[in-house]
Amino acid sequence: MNARADFPLIAASKGVYLDNAATAQKPRCVIEAESRYYETLNANVHRGVHSLSRLATEAQEAARRTVAQFLHAPSEQEIIFTSGCTEGINLIAQSLTHSGLVRAGEEILVSTDSHHSNIVPWQMLCERTGARLRPIPLREDLSFDTEAYLSMLSEHTRLVAVPATSNALGLHLPVREIISAAKQAGALTLVDAAQSIAHEQPDVRALGCDFLAFSGHKIYAPTGTGILWGRAELLEQLPPWKGGGEMISEVTFARTTYNHLPFKYEAGTPNIAGNIVLAEALRYVQSLGLPAIAAHEAALTHRLYDGLAAIPGIRILGGRENRGALISINVPGVHHYDLGTLLDQMGIAVRTGHHCCQPLMQHLGITGTTRYSLALYNTEDDIDRALTATTQALHMLR
Ligand code: PMP
Repeated sequence: MNARADFPLIAASKGVYLDNAATAQKPRCVIEAESRYYETLNANVHRGVHSLSRLATEAQEAARRTVAQFLHAPSEQEIIFTSGCTEGINLIAQSLTHSGLVRAGEEILVSTDSHHSNIVPWQMLCERTGARLRPIPLREDLSFDTEAYLSMLSEHTRLVAVPATSNALGLHLPVREIISAAKQAGALTLVDAAQSIAHEQPDVRALGCDFLAFSGHKIYAPTGTGILWGRAELLEQLPPWKGGGEMISEVTFARTTYNHLPFKYEAGTPNIAGNIVLAEALRYVQSLGLPAIAAHEAALTHRLYDGLAAIPGIRILGGRENRGALISINVPGVHHYDLGTLLDQMGIAVRTGHHCCQPLMQHLGITGTTRYSLALYNTEDDIDRALTATTQALHMLR
């Protein structure tokens, strides 16, 4: 796969960009679609009788259909435009808080390697409802502990929320197994697809989950875009979180009735340009094919893993297999910040720190890691340069 030329920033850069888990670079078609929207289509949606407003509305609703197809969602009414994965998870947590469906003493289970976005919203829900947040342990090899999880499930479990792929470790979680066991226990399920969306074909029907959230910017779309998918009957049942324009059917000073799906959850003027451009990014990814992207990235990830494993003193977090396009390392005696800074001076962009996974870092007894994360435009040369630079930087630091 050679897609570097599609990405102006990558094509112009002499450096190596390996911080794709934080945000991915944008292809030219996405950048151009954003300008095209403002040059030819800009108008507020849904409220206008004039032609431009109708065209903008049609373009946004066509984008919703593209997202529904991408996720294999049964209906586009189940596609809620959000500002990102964080907002999607908060939407469900807040709606559940106000739904009366979560009662004191009930439990919310999250994996230990969850991002703060899949911890804090549930803690907030627990504070208000008296429910209890319980972390699902990891095994010694840092994989998801399925046996421990199964033993935690009970009639008290209200919701299970896990990432499909951990953003700090890069390991996949057995989401299908997790979801089917949760369903048998009568619990709701939410999949945080932030790190899987750009690498693995999503299929909400096959997954069988109740909710799935992701951010556009990790799949080559602009920041400030995202999707929450939810099962229609649940979205119908839950109360809206934000109030304002567009989410209403009728407002009087006495009371308000709410709009039908998906608009009930989309208060205020949406990120119209962003939503339309998100669909462009999904089309771009589909034109290359997610299986081809995944195969390309898996080969590079293995090359990186084997190269890092051969450098003395490096501890790679988690095993070689069952992993996404991401590797985190810890080097005892070397601060991740120093390593990241030196790598940057050598032209290699990686991320260092806790990766918004402080509870995981506490579990590991470390303050942070150095994380290399890949995208479809990375090459063998990128990996080899990152490995050479890492060897040199560690030589200087030790
Ligand atoms: N979950 C995971 C697993 C993530 O990696 C991220 C982003 N790092 C998020 C949630 C939150 O995404 P955003 O900040 O785009 O809302």
